[in-house]
Amino acid sequence: MSEVLEKAHAFAAAHVAPNAARWARDGVMAVDALKAAAKVGLLSFQTSKDWGGSAIGFHEKLRLLELLSRHSYDFAFSLTNTAGCAARIASEMPRSVAERYVPAMLAGERFGGSALSEPNAGSDFGGIKTRAVKDGDGWVLNGEKGWITNAAFGDVFIAYAQTDPGAGARGIGSFLVDGRREGFERTPCERLAGGGVVGAGGFKLANYRVRADEVVSLPGPAFKKAMSGVNQARTYVAAMCCAMVDACLETAIAYGKSRQAFGSALSAKQGWRWMAADIATDVEAGRLLVAKAADLIVHNEDAALTSAHAKKFATRMAVGRISDACQLMGAAGLREEHPFLRHLASARVASYTDGSTEMQNERIAAILLK
Ligand SMILES: Cc1cc2nc3c(=O)[nH]c(=O)nc-3n(C[C@H](O)[C@H](O)[C@H](O)COP(=O)(O)OP(=O)(O)OC[C@H]3O[C@@H](n4cnc5c(N)ncnc54)[C@H](O)[C@@H]3O)c2cc1C
Repeated sequence: MSEVLEKAHAFAAAHVAPNAARWARDGVMAVDALKAAAKVGLLSFQTSKDWGGSAIGFHEKLRLLELLSRHSYDFAFSLTNTAGCAARIASEMPRSVAERYVPAMLAGERFGGSALSEPNAGSDFGGIKTRAVKDGDGWVLNGEKGWITNAAFGDVFIAYAQTDPGAGARGIGSFLVDGRREGFERTPCERLAGGGVVGAGGFKLANYRVRADEVVSLPGPAFKKAMSGVNQARTYVAAMCCAMVDACLETAIAYGKSRQAFGSALSAKQGWRWMAADIATDVEAGRLLVAKAADLIVHNEDAALTSAHAKKFATRMAVGRISDACQLMGAAGLREEHPFLRHLASARVASYTDGSTEMQNERIAAILLK
């Protein structure tokens, strides 16, 4: 195991496993744990070495997120959103701009993410209404973003805005938005039932001024970059879902071996064993799709189709199989000390983020039928 994965493993055991149930119950995001993660370098795993990061490869990133997701998908998702935003600023923005944000983000002093969705546009990304108008060398942004991971407490976002109404996705650009500047107003965060605590919230932009060097991508490249980033996100979300199901299965197997009914352990009953075996088969299938998508990504090949298959399969599989694993536990599966219901809520969240299941089908069908 690499040094970064060893750190993630130790961090998950010390900070995530003991607190995940409480975070979900209280409905709050674990900002203190994110700060603790920064202290051991877990916010800089994607950032290049010249920023003090560890710049791990995509396969290793999947392992890291799986390790954390076994205990809390929400924590892992929140962490990777800040880590990914910092890495993009470090690699895509001028050094003078990046200096203002990257060190603070890697130190756990500021958090962020990607803001595509709006209160009235989720799946229909081309229909976003946040407007960017050129003003001298810079741009002026007006609009509202909603359902943004980390927006409840973060203040550094790569926000997408329409520069040319009527042009659809082709007119969308991306801009660095600083929540400490004039024109940014955070809106109340989402209170979610049952878990799924990723700090989802939103913000309004009112005549928010973006300086010329704070444009992340101009229309055209911005949409292409968003789509290529989304293939990676779909793949890691799929991996995280497999990890949640695997953790639930492991819990159920330990319980089934110790729980006696009708004169033997639950795990000796054929009906019980076969359900466990079916869950294990689905996890393997999900992992193979993830591995195929990850290989395409690391070889810079087109991962659009495979990442859509992986995400669709793994999120659907997680919703069904976490529930099945809970069934193997009987009433004990409902106890807060076990991850089943938290993971189920997170699997539902995963079914929407980075393109819903239906959007994966649209993608797959468009490629199949072109
Ligand atoms: C906890 C959480 C965190 C999130 N974090 C982020 C973030 O960090 N950044 C960000 O930009 N967004 C984020 N999102 C938003 C997420 O990307 C959207 O929820 C997602 O794109 C779906 O949009 P929607 O919820 O508005 O559903 P809608 O687009 O309103 O769709 C509702 C339902 O209809 C289906 N549907 C829509 N269009 C079609 C169609 N043409 N054919 C068939 N079915 C269709 C959808 O699949 C869905 O099931 C987050 C969401 C959640 C729940």
